[in-house]
Amino acid sequence: MDVILAKYAGFCYGVRRAVDTVSKAAKQHGSPMYTLGPIIHNPQVVEWLAEQGVQSVQRLEDIPAGSIAVMPSHGVPRRTIEQAESRGLHVIDLTCPFVSKIYRVAADLVKDGYQVVIVGDMGHTEVRGIMSVAGDDALAVSTPDNLPKDGLKTKVGIVSQTTQTADRFRSLVGHICTRAYEVRAFNTICHATTERQNAALGTAEEADIMIVVGGRNSANTKRLAEICADTGVPTHHVEVAKEIDPAWFKGAKKVGVTAGASTPDWIIQEVVEMVQSVPELGQG
Ligand code: SF4
Repeated sequence: MDVILAKYAGFCYGVRRAVDTVSKAAKQHGSPMYTLGPIIHNPQVVEWLAEQGVQSVQRLEDIPAGSIAVMPSHGVPRRTIEQAESRGLHVIDLTCPFVSKIYRVAADLVKDGYQVVIVGDMGHTEVRGIMSVAGDDALAVSTPDNLPKDGLKTKVGIVSQTTQTADRFRSLVGHICTRAYEVRAFNTICHATTERQNAALGTAEEADIMIVVGGRNSANTKRLAEICADTGVPTHHVEVAKEIDPAWFKGAKKVGVTAGASTPDWIIQEVVEMVQSVPELGQG
């Protein structure tokens, strides 16, 4: 089977920085280290780090006093860092600089009297982190239906979760412009996200079938799968190569492969090799 690998697929700058830093720190300290939630949204990388003594825990209370607490690349609510420090933990904050930039933009909007609207997935850790600096009247919305019927203020400032699509951001900015008197919008979608989304779209347009590789808990991987599926090309989201079913490729000649920003090269390579090993089958 012919494989077309998307030009941009796999680890982005922020994820590589987080994984490399934690892995190096684990070697240096040699003692157990803890990440608050998964360091990145990829279960296989989290497992690989666990083998090096880096454990993922859900709550600060699960980290023994005096230990190293690592904050993930997608950020955490700011008060969580203060709480960690006040518990005597040594914090390594690996929030991606592009996420930190959104905190600054949101805080400036609050200072200038804007109600902050975050275009993003409600409940996602990155969005909860942005909410923590975005003022008491901040809202997180992922569709126009999430906007309150009459709850918007006169001045609204909009930011985006780094992994949203440009289409969704544009649509929400358009809706908010008809509902508020003054609107300031900051397109804070990360460049790495845009590159991966455009490359996935281009690959899907050339392929008979698409495989999107990445954690099922990865927002940016799910978005790549949505983009590919929206082109009408049959699309399958897998975490690892062994989930691939050769029956998916019946009648296909070219298989497109892309991967989320938290998917390591070794998993992408295994998927590519697995697809290449499937013989071409006619429609039957
Ligand atoms: S997708 Fe962008 S914002 Fe998110 S970790 Fe990667 S580089 Fe940072």
